[in-house]
Amino acid sequence: MSERVAVIGAGQMGNGIAHVFVQSGFPVVLVDVSREALTRARATIEKNLARQVQKGTIDSVLRDAALGRLSESSALDAVAENDIVIEAATENADLKFRLFGDLDRLAPPDAILASNTSSISITEIAARTKRPEQVIGMHFMNPVPVMQLVEIIRGLATSDATTARAVALSKQLGKTPVEVNDFPGFVSNRVLMPMINEAVYCLMEGVGTPEAIDTVMKLGMNHPMGPLALADLIGLDTCVSILDVLQRGLGDPKYRPCPLLKKYVAAGWLGRKSGRGFYAY
Ligand code: NAD
Repeated sequence: MSERVAVIGAGQMGNGIAHVFVQSGFPVVLVDVSREALTRARATIEKNLARQVQKGTIDSVLRDAALGRLSESSALDAVAENDIVIEAATENADLKFRLFGDLDRLAPPDAILASNTSSISITEIAARTKRPEQVIGMHFMNPVPVMQLVEIIRGLATSDATTARAVALSKQLGKTPVEVNDFPGFVSNRVLMPMINEAVYCLMEGVGTPEAIDTVMKLGMNHPMGPLALADLIGLDTCVSILDVLQRGLGDPKYRPCPLLKKYVAAGWLGRKSGRGFYAY
């Protein structure tokens, strides 16, 4: 029988994570403090599965079975029956620390507790539990049903057995897991954010227009998207918070967010989600 999965947080990442698990045959309970988020998440999963049927990548029998495996709850004690808990709640360290204390109390003793955090230390999250060897990062990429990578982050105490389970699970989803250790930004954001930040410095210093900067990276480096368009997609406020984590965590001023990036955030120009960033939407 498939392992039972609880996904905590039904926002844009949580609904994508629930989607790929139910599609791969796992029963999933999606948990959120917001009823509205749960309703929106089911609607999004239904819409995305319908699109896959239209494209012919899955059939309607699989779609119906997948939706039948999905349930929702607004109470955290729904995790009591689950073997795998994946937390994808709001990116806030205190919130995650509190949540992992509660999950440790409520989930079965042999359950693994994974976090989808983009930047918060897995070692620190694990220290909030009595089972740090069973805590791990499973960093899915957005949009989850489309992106191939799962960055698997080992905290200081994460055991080999927990890592092997997270790796096997990612493969069962048809994803490619890559194992890394817990340092600020892991690998993905440690490498991506300085590139985005440097692109913003190029803009600030008048080296090129946004279109010129993005086109150089697309046509010259074969990136599917330029760094400024990607920053708009991620959210400029999110980019600043990740750069802050890198600067604080690694203590190196080379990670300081570009003043122009901070200015855009101060103006409320957050990228796609606010309708304006380096480009207008
Ligand atoms: P989001 O704001 O879309 O969703 C967060 C959800 O968590 C909300 O529905 C909120 O109601 C819920 N929530 C808050 N507190 C909760 C609690 N105590 N219990 C249960 N649910 C709670 O955020 P998101 O973009 O889906 O990000 C979620 C996580 O995924 C963050 O840690 C983020 O860093 C990470 N992440 C995001 C991206 C991305 O591109 N957005 C990519 C990779 C990882």
